[in-house]
Amino acid sequence: MLYIGVDLGGTKIEAAALSDDGAVLARERTATPDNYDAALQTIRQLTTSVEGAARNALPALGLNPGIGVGAPGSVSPKAGIVRNANAVWLNGRAFREDLQTLLGRPVAVSNDANCLALSEALDGAAAGAASVAAIILGTGYGGGLVINGKLVEGANGLAGEIGHVGLPWPNEDEVPGPACWCGRHGCAETFVSGTGFARDFKTRTGRNLTAREIIAAAQAGDEDAEQAFDRLLSRLGRALAGLVNTYDPEVFVLGGGLSNVTSLYERLPAYVAPYVFSDAWAARFVPARFGDSSGVRGAAYLWRETGAADAPQPIAPSLTLTALSADGSLSV
Ligand SMILES: [Zn+2]
Repeated sequence: MLYIGVDLGGTKIEAAALSDDGAVLARERTATPDNYDAALQTIRQLTTSVEGAARNALPALGLNPGIGVGAPGSVSPKAGIVRNANAVWLNGRAFREDLQTLLGRPVAVSNDANCLALSEALDGAAAGAASVAAIILGTGYGGGLVINGKLVEGANGLAGEIGHVGLPWPNEDEVPGPACWCGRHGCAETFVSGTGFARDFKTRTGRNLTAREIIAAAQAGDEDAEQAFDRLLSRLGRALAGLVNTYDPEVFVLGGGLSNVTSLYERLPAYVAPYVFSDAWAARFVPARFGDSSGVRGAAYLWRETGAADAPQPIAPSLTLTALSADGSLSV
């Protein structure tokens, strides 16, 4: 079977055609246009092109009719509407519906952390594990969960949205915490994202460095930077302990820029363990196998027995609060 995935990023759009065994049969990328209609057309061109190339390479291979798309930001799985994408022209658009209409085939859309989780759980660094949490430690902070090869999206598409859970067991100086773009204060993302890490460093030291520069400074023995990295480990340890106590994954796969810091894998478990609700806990922490390619691979795998994209869903109705009264009648 041939699977087609698209990774829609802020600077480039990539499409790839994969076979069942994860081999990339064709892949193309181009710069992301600066408007919505051009982006849809680019996706059509790229998917048509990689499909043609893959069919030429392996004409006998059957084609899964669905197209999977990984998008930045938060994606409503029912409506396929994207929120908080860096590419602001994408926000609030009925992206999946519009793309389905243009391509004439079913489309599944999920966020980048979910795509990382699927890619790494099915044939990446966590292949064979029954439960996997993929954590993106990049400019932002997000997660994706896979159990027994299936993406866990949740009843409302919110499963794995670990960035917008309050930082657990906060110290006094962590309350109420920085303002988050979601409207609250002290979300985990405001502390452990690359952006939050750099903000914390600047607040404490007055020095304006990027996350990458702070890590380099810590590795060079800069005391301020070492202390900032310790704070990051403490906060990430608590945040992930909260995930252990709700989900208890066998493997944590780390992606994003900070996942390249090798000392993270040695040191992080000791910061998680004190907050785990057990005296015996074990989990593996591994870097993503496919790195930047996880987005396009995971997007293609949205159609590989994941339950993420069984059939095109109708646009969800606007949120309605319902309650049953004592006599069983429904009030809205
Ligand atoms: Zn938030």
